[in-house]
Amino acid sequence: MVQSSILGFPRMGVNRDLKKATEAYWAGKTTQAELLAEAKRLRLAHWTIQKDAGVDIIPSNDFALYDQVLSHIQDFGAAPERYTSANLDPIDTYFALGRGHQKNGVDLPSLEMVKWFDSNYHYVKPTLQDNQTFELTAKPKAVAEFLEAKEAGIVTRPVLVGPVTFLHLAKADRGQSVDPIDLLPKLLPVYDALLAQLKEAGAETVQIDEPVLVFDLPAKTKAAFKTAYEHFAAEAAKLPQLVFATYFGDIVHNLESVPKDVYAVHVDLVRNPEQLDAVVAALGPKTALSVGVVDGRNIWKTNLKRAIETVEAAIAKLGKERVIVATSSSLLHTPHTLASEKKLDAEIADWFSFAVQKASEVAVIAKAVTEGPAAVSAELEANAKSVNARATSSRTNNAEVKKRQSEIKAADYDRKSAFPERIAQQEKKLKLPLFPTTTIGSFPQTKEIRLQRNKLTKGEITEAEYDRFIEKEIDENVRIQDELGLDVYVHGEPERNDMVQYFGERLDGYAFTTHAWVQSYGSRCVRPPIIVGDISRPAPMTVKESKYAASVSSKPMKGMLTGPVTCLRWSFPRDDVHQSVQAEQLALALRDEVVDLEKAGIDVIQVDEPALREGLPLRAGKEREAYLDWAVKAFRLSTTGVEDSTQIHSHFCYSEFQDFFHAISALDADVLSIENSKSDAKLLKVFVDSAYPRHIGPGVYDIHSPRIPSEEEIRVRIEEMLQFLKPEQLWIDPDCGLKTRQWTETKAALVNMVNAAKFFREKY
Ligand code: GLN
Ligand code: ZN
Repeated sequence: MVQSSILGFPRMGVNRDLKKATEAYWAGKTTQAELLAEAKRLRLAHWTIQKDAGVDIIPSNDFALYDQVLSHIQDFGAAPERYTSANLDPIDTYFALGRGHQKNGVDLPSLEMVKWFDSNYHYVKPTLQDNQTFELTAKPKAVAEFLEAKEAGIVTRPVLVGPVTFLHLAKADRGQSVDPIDLLPKLLPVYDALLAQLKEAGAETVQIDEPVLVFDLPAKTKAAFKTAYEHFAAEAAKLPQLVFATYFGDIVHNLESVPKDVYAVHVDLVRNPEQLDAVVAALGPKTALSVGVVDGRNIWKTNLKRAIETVEAAIAKLGKERVIVATSSSLLHTPHTLASEKKLDAEIADWFSFAVQKASEVAVIAKAVTEGPAAVSAELEANAKSVNARATSSRTNNAEVKKRQSEIKAADYDRKSAFPERIAQQEKKLKLPLFPTTTIGSFPQTKEIRLQRNKLTKGEITEAEYDRFIEKEIDENVRIQDELGLDVYVHGEPERNDMVQYFGERLDGYAFTTHAWVQSYGSRCVRPPIIVGDISRPAPMTVKESKYAASVSSKPMKGMLTGPVTCLRWSFPRDDVHQSVQAEQLALALRDEVVDLEKAGIDVIQVDEPALREGLPLRAGKEREAYLDWAVKAFRLSTTGVEDSTQIHSHFCYSEFQDFFHAISALDADVLSIENSKSDAKLLKVFVDSAYPRHIGPGVYDIHSPRIPSEEEIRVRIEEMLQFLKPEQLWIDPDCGLKTRQWTETKAALVNMVNAAKFFREKY
């Protein structure tokens, strides 16, 4: 019998219940016991869904209150001492690591959080010491959750982040120089103990996630795979069987690191179906193959016929006993259930499949290959019908959009003049001081804003009433910026629920959902719109608000748009045309918006591209260069329609550009604002090395945490930046938008930021 398996399930619940529970706990509105009870309820609900769908192998320990890597950090005793010595209880220590803690005299910034591979999920980076030790906690979460499921009558397959992935994704703490991978010998005993406890608890098989195998790996990491899995093989009698899981790419370039004696190897055959033969050839003689054929990263219904063919191809080589049908990756990156979407057009809804539906798909595929297609003929027939309907629907094609794409000229990618000419004109117009201060776009999204937006959705207030409310919010935002003494203003984005969804709702070719949330980090979720067809802009999207904001402001008002690559990356893209085609369509729509903003008197326009890097193919080489080429072109196409005197900004939520700096530079943006407060200022060296001529605002404080940075702290940061950037190049701004913050901490932090800027203005 061919078994069906799921690598991980979304945690939030049907109505983002986990988000609500954690945020209520953080706000002091509920107790820890209530939070834990809710988490337990959710785990059970999710296991039950999978069981009812007929899934054979159901994961546990895929759950986390904040992040799964963070859970490992804590359970391995790998939290830096400054957190463990703060006298917080374990759950609060956990949250302090994830989101910082500033209460009762304890002042801890969070650990660094970064994107999980090329997804929009963020994990907490293990941050290790030169004299790091590891110790397994008394009650490991993986064991507790396995037992919890078992008690409910469901025997699960626990999921662990593998030791090599844990260390490869780790970094040395500030001031430390350890290469994390060197810590493997110290870490392995912790895995031995944890795996032994899981076996003791009754877990026959454990899924051990080693997705870093899809990267180009340094020799040391490759060697670590050998060491770790030879070690586990030697201990095999004491340990559960291991499913060695990789995803988000192919592993053909690293086949020598695939362990031969594990029970099974999992590969992502959605992303890289062509790797099947090579992987099969590299398997140990008894090792099974878990074939990921149901996409864990997207919302499209699986083409069951094609998936079954892939599984059959594996069976032909290995036999039924050695094949497992699986999701390509964890379903963490898909929304919970399609059943919640009551407003979706029926034609389109028929094309989709969310986590709950994907669970059934996995089970159906397994049944089809076990018992023969006749056993699931009704399902297969219905599926073929949906797949065909989508392929032939008129909703996917817009001839006008295609025509415009075919008419793009080389000159459409260039500004009128080079930067020196542009900046001269911009300075004349904007008259900014040295070290100009600005923010990245959004201001706190208050309860009141959400309330009014809800009322509008429900029809309880009119469009006009809502517009007036937004204008009042903008008035207030402008007044606050007057008070703070900022130099380039933003309107604060009160009208936007989300930086991509907002645009998706205003573009043709998009579908949007009401409940399709996916976790981005911690309690934060996003609801990506879905690109279903060719994209165009029926009407201006942001001009009304920006124009109003400019009219009530005495300082330059920055228009705020989400760039084509980010719109694409943070949407669920089509899987029937290449992403470059979708990006180009978005770019043309945004180009019109940029020009319309300029016409409305907006002299500074920021086009955010925080998702540019996460779209980078995970490995260097041809594929990566091809991506950068179309991504840069899309950005340029969207921004180059303006006059020289209009200042184009762009924003990135990170400052690690080393690998693709040529592309960042090629964007030709007049001003870049980037994350920097949590990274090393040394990363700014790339700007020096390449004699980068344009302006840069490296973030001077972290906005992911409610913590308020002192003026002194910000000055130190700016001082560091001035070692790399010229004073006339440097803008002063926070790391990112402020929508997730409260007003009190936002104002306090910005006061300190503006004062720090003034300090340097006087000095230079
Ligand atoms: N302009 C956006 C904001 O401020 C940028 C957010 C982002 O980079 N993620 O919210
Ligand atoms: Zn950002």
